[in-house]
Amino acid sequence: MGSVVAMSTETGLDPQDWTAFRTQAHDMLDMAIDQMAGAADRPWQAAPHDLQERFAIGSTAPNTNLLERIQSDVLPYHSGNIHPRFWGWVQGTGLASDLIAVMAAAATNENMGGRDHGGIYMERAVIDWTRQKMGFPETASGVCVTGTSQATVIAFQAARQRVLSSVRHAGQGDARLTAYAPVGVHNATLKALQLLGIGTDNLRLVPLSDGKLDADVLRDLVANDRADGALPFLLVGNAGSVDLGLFDDLNQMADLAAQENLWLHVDGAFGAWTRLAEAPWRGLTDGIERADSIALDFHKWMYVGYDCGMVLIRNEDEHRAAFAARPVYLEGTTRGIAGNEPWFCDYGIDLSRGNRAIKVWCALEMFGEAAFASAITDNCRRAAQMAADIRERPRMALGRPVVSNVCTFTANADLPPQAQSELNSNIALTLQENGTAVFSTTRVDGITLLRAAIVNHRTRPHDITFALNAVQALAEA
Ligand SMILES: *Cc1c(COP(=O)(O)O)cnc(C)c1O
Repeated sequence: MGSVVAMSTETGLDPQDWTAFRTQAHDMLDMAIDQMAGAADRPWQAAPHDLQERFAIGSTAPNTNLLERIQSDVLPYHSGNIHPRFWGWVQGTGLASDLIAVMAAAATNENMGGRDHGGIYMERAVIDWTRQKMGFPETASGVCVTGTSQATVIAFQAARQRVLSSVRHAGQGDARLTAYAPVGVHNATLKALQLLGIGTDNLRLVPLSDGKLDADVLRDLVANDRADGALPFLLVGNAGSVDLGLFDDLNQMADLAAQENLWLHVDGAFGAWTRLAEAPWRGLTDGIERADSIALDFHKWMYVGYDCGMVLIRNEDEHRAAFAARPVYLEGTTRGIAGNEPWFCDYGIDLSRGNRAIKVWCALEMFGEAAFASAITDNCRRAAQMAADIRERPRMALGRPVVSNVCTFTANADLPPQAQSELNSNIALTLQENGTAVFSTTRVDGITLLRAAIVNHRTRPHDITFALNAVQALAEA
């Protein structure tokens, strides 16, 4: 028995020499800062053929060369989104404050499911700040989650609980729930409906007319479903649609939801943050404050490191009704560690959870809200600059007018559709591979277009010109 204890101390999982560890950790911090400060010189590059093998666990003796491994195998093969000309999909850049935040979070290693410790108070502060920015009342509640996908599942479960109060115990039974969303809604909505057993056959996609949800079509769909014995329960609105960055008229949707007795959920993954921007972008989310729930991300347009999103629910009682449940071993106390109700495990899927809020808290403490407001405004200006520049160039053309931070365009509008699609796809891939800039693509009216979604605080005006020069050169080659 004694020898087992001695063994485990010798081979323990704390460093045997904290001084040597301190040096190693400082070196890691230096490498991390170099990576971030030099992000402009580090575009994405394809992984070498042997990278998978290099990662094989146990291929070197423990603690021999961890930092060299990180330098050679980890840091160079990032996904590119730290670079100033990365505008693909919707991917945030990460912030210097993250380096500090993740060190503090690792050192404290709090389990944010609940109990009485500092991280819980911090997350409450982050939720409260976000609640105020979104114009939600004090009766609202929220929880930090992995991202908008998880936030959407939580919101829909609360929406379902409202119309089927026994669903947690009895399941959905014969009830057929139906949901409504404008065309262009993100796949996260479909996935959430699938996961909850509602099924995407019960999602009605409503067309837009003049950029607004076609109210007559929505009313007809709801009436038909009701006549058919279904239970319409949910209307989903977009604050920033993923392909085109479009914003629904959320006041109109809130009126419709009230008339039709539907839960209004807003997917504000990135676009909700235009609320921090200057006019005219600030007004795009008007009406979001009337929603029943909002899903949003900090890891996109609040620039913090992956992963961090949030769900906000207008009525805390409805939020708790959908999730609160604590078996005996998790009962709270009025003293000691198990105090400090309410616990976050009663607001979402996870029991054990890490401190994501600390990235948001550190970012806001380090840079201040005004810095985020101006970065978001500037991203909208860069998208407008891109659109203006495209209009000036021969043969290039916008796919759709730019509303916020998403710009779609073709490199040569004179070509037939198929040739345009091929040209645009090839340009996107070539520019990714040669490290010039990252556009992704999307399809508008049957044509594959280049697409930039600018949620990048490192993008400067010359980056836009540089990238468009490169697009034009490839289109003319
Ligand atoms: C990214 C995105 C999602 C999904 O969010 P994740 O954080 O990736 O889970 C949902 N809706 C929109 C509009 C998005 O841009």
